[in-house]
Amino acid sequence: MANARVTGIVLPGMPELPEVEALMRRLRPRLEGRRLVSTRILHPRPCRPSIPADLEPLLQDRLLLRLHRRAKYLVFHWEPKPGLPTTLLVHLGMTGSLVFSETKPLPGRHDVASLEWDHGHLIFEDPRRFGVFTCDGSALARLGPEPLSTDFTPRTLARLGSSRQPIKVRLMDPAMVSGIGNIYASELLHRAGISPRRRSDRIREAEWPVLYDAIRQVLEEAIARNVRAYDAGISPYYHEAGTRGTWSDDASPFLVYDREEEPCARCAAMIRRCEQAGRSTYWCPGCQR
Ligand SMILES: [Zn+2]
Repeated sequence: MANARVTGIVLPGMPELPEVEALMRRLRPRLEGRRLVSTRILHPRPCRPSIPADLEPLLQDRLLLRLHRRAKYLVFHWEPKPGLPTTLLVHLGMTGSLVFSETKPLPGRHDVASLEWDHGHLIFEDPRRFGVFTCDGSALARLGPEPLSTDFTPRTLARLGSSRQPIKVRLMDPAMVSGIGNIYASELLHRAGISPRRRSDRIREAEWPVLYDAIRQVLEEAIARNVRAYDAGISPYYHEAGTRGTWSDDASPFLVYDREEEPCARCAAMIRRCEQAGRSTYWCPGCQR
């Protein structure tokens, strides 16, 4: 794809599960089976521990056995070495992105970490520095089921009904389901025709499978959209050096998110916005009950 402006490729302001999944699929063939030669921490704030001398020695001469995604984390699994951690977790936070370059890149002012591989350089950039870069894998133990995994079923989802919390807040609780963020929570509830403000214990038996299908469809469609953006070199979350494109913001793929006071594409009622747990929720009072 040569055209940098591809209709329908508008990505959210903050990376969520689909953005990280597509990024992982892009990186996996490039990095799996390759050797990390050395690591330099250039800005310690997103790093745990935030002392470069503590982290850099853990990440040198390591063979990457496997790269995968868990919730919004990229998880690097290294070949075990005595006394060294076997994982590296990278979370893009609000503004993180990765850049791969076969030649040594010029330093950038937002670089957090620079990983030199046997075949190139991977830079973690993060202007606002809310990301995470750590060899401590304990955050993964607290995460609930992956919404796209085979062990996530309508029955697993129905466990959310044991609370009086609004369904949208419940869907965003990472201990209940991992990786559903603010944007896609609004979108998938619109797909399911369920109001984000409905109490979770008031979701009817027959609605859980509908919500389940909406979760999977909305996330899978968003992954496909992100894959197209990475293929076109226009993703804000990853690019290969020299290929950074621009992306269009005139064709949002979202049906309710950030569309307050616009007519709903399904029923033409005005989309509304409210605050839930400190975050903006968008929904259509016409077709979401
Ligand atoms: Zn509607």
